[in-house]
Amino acid sequence: MKKIAFYGKGGIGKSTTTSNLSAALSTMGFKVMQIGCDPKADSTKNLMRGRAIPTVLDTMKTKKADITLADIVFAGYNGVLCVEAGGPTPGIGCAGRGIITAFEKLAELKAFDYFTPDIVIYDVLGDVVCGGFAMPIREGYAEDVYIVTSGEMMSLYAASNISSAIRQFSGRGYARLRGLVLNAKNVDSEKELVAKAAQEIGTQIVQYIPRDAHVQQAENAGCTVVEAFGESDMSKVYRELAEKISS
Ligand code: ATP
Ligand code: MG
Repeated sequence: MKKIAFYGKGGIGKSTTTSNLSAALSTMGFKVMQIGCDPKADSTKNLMRGRAIPTVLDTMKTKKADITLADIVFAGYNGVLCVEAGGPTPGIGCAGRGIITAFEKLAELKAFDYFTPDIVIYDVLGDVVCGGFAMPIREGYAEDVYIVTSGEMMSLYAASNISSAIRQFSGRGYARLRGLVLNAKNVDSEKELVAKAAQEIGTQIVQYIPRDAHVQQAENAGCTVVEAFGESDMSKVYRELAEKISS
């Protein structure tokens, strides 16, 4: 089982990238589980035809001890297993702690033993690197980490912070940074800016993802590009990323 985390600044395209990646991996024959680690709980909606699935944290509140895997793991596009950790009521409680609680519940219910996914993908809101958001890169949850960034200064700044957090834990044999995914915002000299940042961080750009209108069109239909426009060039880009990540 491969365990991969995608981090990046808010709104940079983590959920779009991970859900298209999960969809592409599923078409290659892999059993994939995508775990959204963001209080907004919208990581998997384009794998679920636009449906917001119940979160682990909300379900823990309502079902208490009666909670089962069927309440929190949902089969989406092409059998991709979808989970949303969820979060506390806005303004109250700590979102990072929520992620920890959700992970502990998945472990207690033996989600990985039961579903035996080939690849687990964590989609993590990562510009807030508090203890909870760092959870997927600690304690063996994720082995490989990718950071989604554009050439915009704020997303490169977040990428730098996230890479520092990964380094912090790597000495203890936890996650390794595998590289940056450049999700283009079409800023001037974008490739050069991100390549320079990659060099400074000591990593590489693993995939260039262009800005493409198919993303929005697919999203409007509650789908990934891979599902809605399987033959498009954009779909090919996500398949390329899937091949690199699974090899
Ligand atoms: P959050 O931190 O809020 O969870 P995110 O990093 O998961 O955000 P997404 O929700 O994936 O970001 O993307 C934000 C918006 O950007 C979406 O509406 C999506 O349609 C758009 N988007 C992402 N990637 C691309 C792309 N390559 N081309 C065009 N639009 C894109
Ligand atoms: Mg998201």
